[in-house]
Amino acid sequence: MAELVIHPEQITPEGAKALVSLCPFGAIREKDGGIDIGQECKMCGLCVRKGPKGAVTLQEDAPEKTDLSDWKGVAVFCEQQEGEIHSVSRELLGKARELAAVTGEPVYALLMGSGVMTGAELLSRCGADKVFVYDAPELETFRIGPYTNAFSDFVRKVKPSCVLVGATNMGRSLAPRTAARFLTGVTADCTKLEMRPDGNLVQIRPAFGGNIMAQIVTTRTRPQFCTVRSKVFPLPKAGESAGEIKKMTLSPEELFSAVQVLEAAKKPKETDISEAEVIVACGRGFKKKDDLALAQSLADALGGQIACTRPIAEAGWLPQNRQIGLSGRTVAPKLIITLGISGSVQFAAGMKGSEFIVAVDENENAPIFDVAHYGIVGDLYQVVPELLRRIREGNYGV
Ligand SMILES: Cc1cc2nc3c(=O)[nH]c(=O)nc-3n(C[C@H](O)[C@H](O)[C@H](O)COP(=O)(O)OP(=O)(O)OC[C@H]3O[C@@H](n4cnc5c(N)ncnc54)[C@H](O)[C@@H]3O)c2cc1C
Ligand code: SF4
Repeated sequence: MAELVIHPEQITPEGAKALVSLCPFGAIREKDGGIDIGQECKMCGLCVRKGPKGAVTLQEDAPEKTDLSDWKGVAVFCEQQEGEIHSVSRELLGKARELAAVTGEPVYALLMGSGVMTGAELLSRCGADKVFVYDAPELETFRIGPYTNAFSDFVRKVKPSCVLVGATNMGRSLAPRTAARFLTGVTADCTKLEMRPDGNLVQIRPAFGGNIMAQIVTTRTRPQFCTVRSKVFPLPKAGESAGEIKKMTLSPEELFSAVQVLEAAKKPKETDISEAEVIVACGRGFKKKDDLALAQSLADALGGQIACTRPIAEAGWLPQNRQIGLSGRTVAPKLIITLGISGSVQFAAGMKGSEFIVAVDENENAPIFDVAHYGIVGDLYQVVPELLRRIREGNYGV
């Protein structure tokens, strides 16, 4: 742990003012001629580096040494509901295979639930060398206590070097809780993962509003935990060769939860653009809400779904669950047609895994053309009716 130490004797009234205006997070306030640092502090270290010399210093505890050589293998937490394995878990197993090949270490799958042995068999054919199964009636529904206990038991006994978790509601609750028990970090919502030959996992994700791609490496502690959203990595096909399945047990105390699940109700299935094979995405090139009917006609003609950029969702023109991007959904359809979308990094982060990207924009320098496979420079109000006419006539020639 690191903490900031204020040295009042080094702070003049002018120095205090300079420190207040220096902090980008508004965490420093003037107090009794000196300064005070509030909870808004993000430990960016700017006041230490750029403030008056010696006014604020950073005190770091010597890190506890973990013997990294004790930790081996890439593990995937495999989420299931009513026995059905979540697709993100299988996507991560495919990635885990690639990562583990760099260091020659094994791939593990971790599965928990009640009556989940069929799922375990499927996982053993999806790239896992070993599937560790916690199968108990107490694990039938997701309750954070027993699930975290099972996860921690697995980490303690198997000692995986890396743990990949799907960025689902369940994964987002479990990964940080388990990581905290091992005093290690979690990198959330990674968009790329690379393994170094020394076993350090480079966890890459957009940072500072998507303006940079941060490369995060956990060099001192293990396991290296990260979460990844669905559709970021391709879904591998199940193979023939099967890995070993190992049943794990927990004590009654570890399986106990004070939370009783009285009823589990299924949410009505909402339109999920991440499952669509064809998407027509609308951006600020549309002048008014009613004009989105044009995009809807194109989506209908192609048997696809309509989606949008953040400004369109924020304006209430389409619901938030139709937004693609960093703060929306990640999609990887066979075909996506973007209409009047500039192609910001935040939007592109959510769709650049699509098989075919066709962009329509009147600005030939719009960044969307850097990610698009086909580009049409023109006014969408002219291009879309022409596309519709050709689709309806079955005339796709240029
Ligand atoms: C932390 C953070 C997270 C964010 N998350 C997301 C996110 O998840 N998803 C997202 O989309 N954005 C996100 N944003 C916002 C993002 O930065 C952009 O502002 C947004 O993507 C721009 O949307 P747009 O392309 O629709 O609009 P603009 O950038 O305004 O682009 C409009 C495009 O339409 C073209 N155009 C105009 N008229 C026509 C016409 N008649 N015919 C053809 N083309 C035309 C223009 O040339 C232009 O290229 C985020 C921003 C931040 C800071
Ligand atoms: S470390 Fe950064 S956020 Fe914290 S007080 Fe200093 S300048 Fe502000």
